[in-house]
Amino acid sequence: MRRVLAKCIIILSLLFPVFLLSAEEKELTVPKGGNLSTLLRNEDIPSQQISEVTRALSDHYNLRHIYPNQKILIKTENEPDVRLMELRLSADFDEDIVVKYNGYAYESYPEKLTLRMVPIAAEGSIESSFYNDMAAAGVAGSKIMELFRIFSFDIDFQRDIRKGDKFKVLYYDFIKEDGTVAKHGPIVFAALKTNFTDVNLYGFVTDSNEYDYYSSEGKSVRKTLLKTPVANARISSTYGKRTNPIYGYESFHKGLDFAAPLNTPILASGSGTVELAGWFDIYGNCIILRHSNGYKTLYGHMNAYGKGIKKGVRVKQGQVIGYIGTTGMSTGPHLHYEVILNNVKINPASVKSPPERNLTKAEMERFEKRRAQIDELFENLKKKD
Ligand SMILES: [Zn+2]
Repeated sequence: MRRVLAKCIIILSLLFPVFLLSAEEKELTVPKGGNLSTLLRNEDIPSQQISEVTRALSDHYNLRHIYPNQKILIKTENEPDVRLMELRLSADFDEDIVVKYNGYAYESYPEKLTLRMVPIAAEGSIESSFYNDMAAAGVAGSKIMELFRIFSFDIDFQRDIRKGDKFKVLYYDFIKEDGTVAKHGPIVFAALKTNFTDVNLYGFVTDSNEYDYYSSEGKSVRKTLLKTPVANARISSTYGKRTNPIYGYESFHKGLDFAAPLNTPILASGSGTVELAGWFDIYGNCIILRHSNGYKTLYGHMNAYGKGIKKGVRVKQGQVIGYIGTTGMSTGPHLHYEVILNNVKINPASVKSPPERNLTKAEMERFEKRRAQIDELFENLKKKD
């Protein structure tokens, strides 16, 4: 029987010489400081073929973009001579560039990959650290970093996170046909319940095609610092060099002055904790608020403090914290306002504040449907666990 089979193979091989060729498939890893040519040379590919292959590849791929640890798949045939038949590398999470030998030359083309989207739902509570417990619940590392960023508008990670705080996360993985993850998709839903706050964030694409996160009520989470902590005020002195209005010498004004009538309300420019509410040297009656991510704001020369404002109290963005005055070293009713980042006074006008965007009525209707779908998907996925 075996002899018959062997005979068949010999006959077939004579008819179809390809049968004798031994094809080999291999995954190569670009070494540090290495390039494609050296990589292929190490596989004993003749230099003529290497130059033809790289020329074909460069039609669709910038060879300078080849990076250490990049995976490159090759198919070679070793009989009668070494021939690189195919080379494939990933150009994007959903696209490969393929170089193929067509019998007389190399040609290259991009190939879209078929990806499956698989929802990943995770839930847990903080026991050791935000990062560790999220990772233990199955959240990918890059997604945890993304969560830090999107939560940072509402959560001060240095102070607000306590043992037992609860989190929920939902995102999609893009899975290749071979079962490996091509890419982790953006966070679709993230929730964090702490002693101080209950944050629920839903990813949503607006009519102008912008993807951003909104609270259950459809409010944008991007709220850094208000540009103007006093309504109807005019800037009477900007940040920078100026002649001191009291002593006449040239000095550097490390804040913004807002002139407004006595007792005009002053608003917290961001949510945070009152670090100081009291007399502070030249600033007179002064408030310092501590916000997340190293930001503090200072409000000077106030006539009076807002209701309930004292050290340690948490305030919401836009809450009235005090009233315009002229206490301390001041020439008239105004607010002296400073923004301090990591203990350095910065120009308040330079603080990047993404435009707060309210959803339109039509968007709001879409948002509410999407929120319900996301909630349902999350519950269903958790039931399956
Ligand atoms: Zn000032």
